[in-house]
Amino acid sequence: MHNMGKKRSTDDTDDERRRRPRRLDDGILPNFRDMIEQSAQGILVHSNFKPLYANTAFADLLGFETPQAITDLPLIRSLFPQENWPQIEAQYNDFMRSDKTSQHARVQVLSQDGRDLWLTVIARKIDWDEQQAVHICAFDMTPNIKLEQLLLANEQKLRAILEILPVPLCITRRSDGRFLFVNRKLCFLLQQSAGPLLRSCAQDYLVDPQEWDKLHAMLDRVSDLHEIEVKVRSALGHAFTAEVAAITMNHEDQPALLIALNDVSARKKLEDELFHQANTDPLTSLSNRRFFMIQAEQEIRRARRFSRDLSLIMVDLDHFKNVNDTYGHATGDRALETLVRASFKSLRESDIMGRLGGEEFAIILPETSLEAAKDVALRLLAHVAQTEVPSEKGAFHMTTSLGVSALRPTDTGIDDLLNRADDALFAAKREGRNRVEVLA
Ligand code: GH3
Ligand code: MG
Ligand code: MG
Repeated sequence: MHNMGKKRSTDDTDDERRRRPRRLDDGILPNFRDMIEQSAQGILVHSNFKPLYANTAFADLLGFETPQAITDLPLIRSLFPQENWPQIEAQYNDFMRSDKTSQHARVQVLSQDGRDLWLTVIARKIDWDEQQAVHICAFDMTPNIKLEQLLLANEQKLRAILEILPVPLCITRRSDGRFLFVNRKLCFLLQQSAGPLLRSCAQDYLVDPQEWDKLHAMLDRVSDLHEIEVKVRSALGHAFTAEVAAITMNHEDQPALLIALNDVSARKKLEDELFHQANTDPLTSLSNRRFFMIQAEQEIRRARRFSRDLSLIMVDLDHFKNVNDTYGHATGDRALETLVRASFKSLRESDIMGRLGGEEFAIILPETSLEAAKDVALRLLAHVAQTEVPSEKGAFHMTTSLGVSALRPTDTGIDDLLNRADDALFAAKREGRNRVEVLA
């Protein structure tokens, strides 16, 4: 009851008060000086860097024992690192000369206990005892700034890592392929310096720019790719095959790709060379026996699938031992090369000739009947016979014997065809050489 009575009487007074304009010296609102004094926010007033007032929070912020320790300073310039004085004074003068009544700024200050502080300050022009002064509210931004600096340092560290990696790397924008980052190795690979590269797009360096869209289409389905081969062309026009690995990422708030690429031309060339070495005869550059067998089996499968004819010719030089004995082994080698070159005159692009060993050769003739193959063999016989083999003892001619066979439905593979052609060849030798025999 007592409380209610009291409340009613204060309510009346409050109503009255609300109707009246309030005044600072009313004694109703708390004393402003106390409010500022006890504010958790650092507050400072200065005029041209001469401190006029500081509250406890400001003193605490900067590590001073008391606010008076600040106001005792002749000038508050000493609160800032000396190298920043000119800039801070210029900012102050610009502000005071401007029409602006307030201004935000971020300043670095030195705390008394040696900590590096970053403050966001709001400066307002005020009159203080009839002189122009600045009233400053300060917020401690140090943790935020430290975090920013940490992020920046991490980013710089990451850039340094990407820069030094011995792999060409770039970051490209997803929307248009623009280079956002390139490392030294990439500049070297693309024969272009970083400046122009960063003004261009990745697809400018592809032999077929559509490959870029294909890469992106793949990355719509999976977030990272590797061992993708693309044809790249450097700024100076050097084209090469690159093996690409790419991963989707965000870079500076935009969808991007981190791409690593490797010039694999040298490796590919080596692979080609090894393939060539493993599969060809060094003297004639024909397929060697092993590879000829693989090619022949492929052709047999194809002939079966499409129900096409396929024939085989075996070739053996006549009395080749005599050539070696009479003219020497080197001339014998030249004779073998001559035979191969002469044979090619009778063959089509699709025919496959291989060296089975010594001076024995075989030719697969796809889409060729036994009859047609016999005609080819006769032409070959004539071409070889007409061809001169040069030697130190004067040019000479060679003859060959040839055996022809054709694929039968009952054949299980190349061996059946080879055996029949070999039998036919043997017959040709027996019948006096320099002739063609056929075994259907
Ligand atoms: P035939 O008419 O019965 O075939 O008589 P031929 O003397 O040619 O007899 P055969 O085919 O048995 O002889 C093959 C000879 O070919 C034996 C070998 O000295 C020679 N020869 C094999 N490979 C090479 C080669 O790479 N270079 C040379 N110069 N000679 C080879
Ligand atoms: Mg022979
Ligand atoms: Mg032989």
